[in-house]
Amino acid sequence: MIPAVHRQLQAIGSQIDAGEYPNVFNDGVIAPKGSIVDRETLGAEKYDEQQGPCGSAAGSWQGAAGWQGSSCRSRTSGDAKPSGSGRLRENYLGQLDAVFAAYPRTAVWTSNEGMWLAVDSAVLAGLDRKATFLIAVPFQHFQPIRAWAFWTTTVSRTWIGPRHTNAVDGSICAFNPSEGTWKIGGDLVALIDQYTMWVFCHLHLEIIGWWPGRQTAEFVYERLTELKDNEWCGCRPDSGRYAECCKEADLAADRFQAAMQFVGGFLKFKPRQPPASVSRLILGGGEPPAFEQAKPNSMLIVGSCLYPAKAGAKLSDAARWAMLRP
Ligand SMILES: [Zn+2]
Repeated sequence: MIPAVHRQLQAIGSQIDAGEYPNVFNDGVIAPKGSIVDRETLGAEKYDEQQGPCGSAAGSWQGAAGWQGSSCRSRTSGDAKPSGSGRLRENYLGQLDAVFAAYPRTAVWTSNEGMWLAVDSAVLAGLDRKATFLIAVPFQHFQPIRAWAFWTTTVSRTWIGPRHTNAVDGSICAFNPSEGTWKIGGDLVALIDQYTMWVFCHLHLEIIGWWPGRQTAEFVYERLTELKDNEWCGCRPDSGRYAECCKEADLAADRFQAAMQFVGGFLKFKPRQPPASVSRLILGGGEPPAFEQAKPNSMLIVGSCLYPAKAGAKLSDAARWAMLRP
């Protein structure tokens, strides 16, 4: 990582840790809050550096039947009859132009049941890798959107996790669903921005060594194994730093019982990792998994999230526990 990118990482991480939202520009470039570049300009500049509208990222999806690269798309799903919620389907399909404008390196695959998006996000200008999101967007109100993130370079694809991913499919947990940060039918660009912020926090964890910003981590064992002393404790929204909040009590707790609660009760003794069908898709392209596999599953909406909630979003203890113990 070149020094200038490292400095950006530190500066933005400090802002997030202080509860400030940085700006997310076109192509997913995050810049410190108050940056004077506007989204249009930065996005355009960034995009010019890519290999063109049908270049690298979108191009890799072109060979797959049904995938349409960003500027090469000709959305022709007209003959498909919606079997899901018509309104939700129209809502999401109607947002695609905005998604392509904000994230030019996007490919889409549509079916009757929902759509898959493959979205490249730059995360930081000048970063030596990019994030690629695979996002399953069902057209049914009762099915949550699920997304997986990978670091991609020309020669590699690496899943991003397991910190703040859902049990057990390793999908992104970028916010606590009960906090109202994003709701089904909401702005897809805002959702992808949120995923980009989540990836930024992972990059900060990897390079700087700790997770910036507020987070949810309800389980004693999770906090013991994942949280650093200077991170915000995950026990409640107004917690202090972990070392001054729950660490002492966590260390004194029954370790076996705590482990059973998290590893057994929450993770079901399984490692968090993407389903084989999702890994195959990122590694080899081809058809995305069918939406029949995305049945509602309460395990998908619980979890140790997050990226901080938007200002003003409050989470009651009752709501939080309802999410944890459906
Ligand atoms: Zn705490």
